[in-house]
This record gives sequence, C-alpha cells and structure tokens, in this order.
Amino acid sequence: MEEKLLQIQDLRTTFYTREGQVHAVDGVSIEIHEGECTGIVGESGCGKSMTAMSVMGLLKKPGRVDGGSIWFEGQDLTAMTPRERRKILGNRISMIFQEPMTSLNPVMTVGRQVREALLLHNRQMTRAEARDRVIQSFELVGIPDAAKRYGEYPHQLSGGLRQRVMIAMAMACDPRLLIADEPTTALDVTIEAQILHLMKQLQEEKGTAVMMITHNLGVVAQFCTRLYVMYAGKVIESGTVQEIFKHVCHPYTDGLMRSVPDMKSKERLYNIRGMVPNMLRLPRGCRFCPRCQYSMARCFREEPELYEAAPGHFVRCFLFEKEEGK
Ligand code: SF4
Repeated sequence: MEEKLLQIQDLRTTFYTREGQVHAVDGVSIEIHEGECTGIVGESGCGKSMTAMSVMGLLKKPGRVDGGSIWFEGQDLTAMTPRERRKILGNRISMIFQEPMTSLNPVMTVGRQVREALLLHNRQMTRAEARDRVIQSFELVGIPDAAKRYGEYPHQLSGGLRQRVMIAMAMACDPRLLIADEPTTALDVTIEAQILHLMKQLQEEKGTAVMMITHNLGVVAQFCTRLYVMYAGKVIESGTVQEIFKHVCHPYTDGLMRSVPDMKSKERLYNIRGMVPNMLRLPRGCRFCPRCQYSMARCFREEPELYEAAPGHFVRCFLFEKEEGK
C-alpha cells in the first residue's frame, strides 16, 4: 500500500455572506496516496473546487477554512504561516486550472511566466538555466517549436497549447502532488484526449500523485484508481474506482454513471431529476432526498453517516446502514 501523501481530515470551509453562511465544504475527509491518481467527482457547486482551493490556500474572502486539518508530507498546512505555505505551494503541490486563458498573464510571454515560477522556487538557478529548463519542459508536454513558443503571448496560442503551458508550469518544479481542476473542460474532445494522455504519461514517469477534479466519470474510469463522490459539500461515496464501478451504491453516483453517454445505446440519455440544492437553504435530513427515487420518511428527518458497504467502500445512505451486530 502506498504512503499517504495528502490527508484532509474533517475539513470545513465556510463563506460568510450577507444572506447567511454557506458551508461549501462540510466535514470532508480525503486521502491521496503517493503516485496515485484520485478522482473527486460531482456536479458544479458540490464543493470539489472549494476543497482544492482550501488545500492551495487560495480561498478569497468571504470564504475561510474554519475547521479540520490538511496534512501534506506530515505537516499540517492549516497550521502554517502564509510564508511557510507559499514555499510548498507551486513547488511540492501545484495546480492546473479549468480555463488557462484566465490563469495565464495576458501581458507576459508564456516562457517568461513559467521561468518566473521556476526561479521563485529555485533561487540558485540562473535565468539562462531556467530558460533552457522551460524550453525542455515545453518539449516534454508536446509544444511544437518550443523555443519559438517561449516568446509568444497566451493569445497567440490555441486552447490546447495554453493548457500544455499550464501543465508545463505546474510540473516545472517536479511537484509531489498535482491538483487538476477540470483541466479539459474548456477543450474539444480530441485535445481533451491528448491532454489526458499527456497527464497520465507525466504522472507515470515522474510518480506524481494527482487529484483529478471532474464532473466526467469517463475521465475517472480512464485515469484514476480511487474515487470520492461529493454532493452539497459532503463526500457521499468513496472507494477504489474498480469497486465503485462494479458495485455502485449511492443513488446519486448511480445517477451520474447512468448520465454518461453511451454511443451504442438507443435509449434517451438519463438525467438526475431536480437540481443541486441552494447551499443557503439545504434540505433537512439527507441532502439528496428531494432528488432521490428511494427516499424514505427517515431520509427527510435524519442525516445519514458514512457506512462501510464493503471493505474500503463507504456510502452516505441509509440503504447501506448495517444492523447492529452484523
Ligand atoms: Fe436516498 Fe435516503 Fe439514501 Fe438519501 S439516505 S440517498 S434520500 S435513500
């Protein structure tokens, strides 16, 4: 069994808005093992990106982490000063965002942006060495004519090339953990497949652990070995990808799986009825109950805990509560 690299324990991230408190991440516990790819899945607004932003320390006001801990390589990130944390972020942990155009500086050449990131964490490196390293990393991520692209601005590159630049930047310091937040959402399917293939290749070659945030279970099946499904700020199912795809338990995960398009099927594509709840007015009891076809009277009154449906496979649903003594 691989070592635990990142251990998020009972994390609580709250946004203090004028309308009230939004518990965007509500008691989430996630483990990421060395060299392993872990998928975090759910619809928009379920807390996946906020979990990642909490790890990266990138939350903006009025949001803040107000409970739990985030252990990385044996150190609690939440107990560190911003300065101590900056030494780890972008270096030992880095992140790829959904839309590279909004993450890259439009008035700085892409080469210089990656070079600056590299120099920030490698003070002994000269500018010339950093430039060579950036060009090498551009070649590694498949940017053609890397030396010429070094001097170009983000608007001169296609969406796929911009995302490759983001990957080169994220991988420049050989991080132990890469957080990829919907890295292919803004790309067309052909480029998506190329970018996923590239990330898989880099992950295998460098042994980097990946936290893959996505709403696409197809990406999880291809890329990940462990899976956490989130709904309304909580983890509602977790386990290995193999186990969950074989024995899906939670009605929400089941709905997500049935919503993946199947080219061979002639049936109308399934969609989960209803909408993600308003986080300011969460339903009482199980947060999924207004959308669940199996809901019982109890589901509207009590909140389920995580029950172990099979060894290492946890589900937040009363249908999997074990009777005492069994
Ligand atoms: Fe559905 Fe009840 Fe299970 Fe919630 S606890 S997912 S409402 S059956």
